Amino acid sequence: MIETLPMESALTPALRALEREVTKCRRCPRLVAWREQVAREKRRAFADEEYWGRPVPGWGDSAARLLVLGLAPAAHGGNRTGRAFTGDESGRWLYRALWRSGFASQPESERKGDGLALVDCFVTAGVRCAPPDNRPTPVERANCRPWLEAEIDLLPEVRVVVALGGFAYDHALRIWRARGAAVPTPKPRFAHEVEVPLGQGAPAAGAPLLVASYHPSQQNTFTGVLTEAAFDRVFEKVRQRLGSG
Ligand code: SF4
Repeated sequence: MIETLPMESALTPALRALEREVTKCRRCPRLVAWREQVAREKRRAFADEEYWGRPVPGWGDSAARLLVLGLAPAAHGGNRTGRAFTGDESGRWLYRALWRSGFASQPESERKGDGLALVDCFVTAGVRCAPPDNRPTPVERANCRPWLEAEIDLLPEVRVVVALGGFAYDHALRIWRARGAAVPTPKPRFAHEVEVPLGQGAPAAGAPLLVASYHPSQQNTFTGVLTEAAFDRVFEKVRQRLGSG
């Protein structure tokens, strides 16, 4: 399996050390077996490629004010390329939108070393190993939560969290509630463009604004549930909340 780590990330030494630890994790037996089976068997279109087949760490700008939170790597996307949202349709949608809104250096995302850099943005997921049917169990979600929390601790500038899909939205609410955020009860229902302030006043580090978005999965993009215009509105909103800087 591939031994190198992402080079495009402008990571602090602490994030780089965390990344090294994450990629060794074997806490979830079902996911370890699945990620490695997929990496061995491969999809025919990628038969000549070496799959990553390990946990996929978050990546991007250590000084990011925007944190994008997804569900988990795709079996033949992040689990193949080793970089979150890279090498699959969901990732193409995501990075095109981030590029249009100035958070990415280019619209294409195919593999590590493709020149993509994130600007003021960090992309990660609630679960770091590709799950069968894109469905991690609650135990797997809980197992992986400390990795995400450690990442959040090392991203002190985050002001806005964009949660892609209901899983990421619920996960973010759970995490920031445990961190003492003022999460309304009952929790606001997940819907595209719903905003939940996790603190008082303007979005701030430690008390960011949570913005919900439909996940750019093919299930949503092929059916028109999520259009590019609707996806762009999420990141326009982020820009407004962060100010023009
Ligand atoms: S999903 Fe997370 S906790 Fe489970 S094995 Fe992968 S990295 Fe470890």
